[in-house]
Amino acid sequence: MNSESLYHFGDDAKSVAIGKASQMLRLIRAAQPISRVSIASRLGIDPSTVSENIKPLVANGVLSEETVIDNFDKRRTRVLSFNGHSPKFAGVNLGVRHSQVGLTTLRGEITDEIDFETPSDPYKALSLAREHLDAIIRRDTSRELGAVGVSVPGMTDAARQKLIFAPHLNWRDLDIARAFRIDDRVRVVVENDSTAAALYEARLKIRDSEDGLLTNFILVRSGTGIGVGLVIGGRIHRGNGIAGEFGHMTIVAGGKPCVCGNRGCWERYASAAAAASLYLGDRPPARGEAVPRFVDIVAKANVGDTRSKRTLEKIGDYLGIGIANVIMGIGIPRVIISGRLVYGWEFIEDPMKEAINRSMIGKVKGWSVEAGEPVGSAIGGALEVAVEEYLSRI
Ligand SMILES: [Zn+2]
Repeated sequence: MNSESLYHFGDDAKSVAIGKASQMLRLIRAAQPISRVSIASRLGIDPSTVSENIKPLVANGVLSEETVIDNFDKRRTRVLSFNGHSPKFAGVNLGVRHSQVGLTTLRGEITDEIDFETPSDPYKALSLAREHLDAIIRRDTSRELGAVGVSVPGMTDAARQKLIFAPHLNWRDLDIARAFRIDDRVRVVVENDSTAAALYEARLKIRDSEDGLLTNFILVRSGTGIGVGLVIGGRIHRGNGIAGEFGHMTIVAGGKPCVCGNRGCWERYASAAAAASLYLGDRPPARGEAVPRFVDIVAKANVGDTRSKRTLEKIGDYLGIGIANVIMGIGIPRVIISGRLVYGWEFIEDPMKEAINRSMIGKVKGWSVEAGEPVGSAIGGALEVAVEEYLSRI
């Protein structure tokens, strides 16, 4: 840790704004099967509070409780999971190049998925996605549909029904929720893809650790562009639907032109897509020269190609500059990176950390940046949006 550190970020606030029952449901979903004792210790609450809140949910069949016997010491433990007969949830991830529709359950597994290329015309894209959605819903007749979550690469309205603007697709003012409306009972929620990815990563991190819920973190999703999801005090922070558009904050005055109309945006320097132009030395490809894909650059770096390594190190430097700005602005020191950029993590991590250390935030102890999922957050995020909508209404 930096010896010049002046301050230390405090621990996460213990009291989060969401209710106890709702915290428990989210923890059970992420860490199931899980015992009542473990829920109590991970959330820092009394076991009797856990039992009190869990009882009605077991009684009405939302949760099921079973006894497991430890192979080693034969100890018997009662563990909770979501009921296997729970509803199904549908997700639609509309990506810049590729899209997916999928189905999941409260147990968390993806039970069906269809991938397709995103048509550039928004109405064609929505009608194709709708066809695929109807097809996978029809394929599973064993469950009721609980909710539909749609993730989009752009800003949504405050009611989470419409897409306001997706710069990379140049789509504007689309009533997305209406395009996927099933009937009056099924809620359709439209969410920014980075926010959706934040929900997805939060569940994986809780599953893979002994932590309680992640109440404060910043999710930076870097692929075709850069988007940021903000979880503050246990809640997603959306502003009026436009929070987290840090990909379009200027980090180079008069820099490279961006699809948003500005110049020098962060995503023009630190997204996975930016690597190709950095690799080519910011000139158009020569005749017959292919524009390298991010994974190709990583593959070359892995076999010792200097130009590829330097490209990834440069991306790491720009990534760190932006992350330091975001941490300084939001005041939350835990950052998770997701999206294609994660494939190059081994080359990106050190220069990124050096850049953060150069900034003012580098003088403060307690920040962390960790790698998340390179791809799963796309449809995984959309599905998480659907489940989250359902859990918030139990
Ligand atoms: Zn921009």
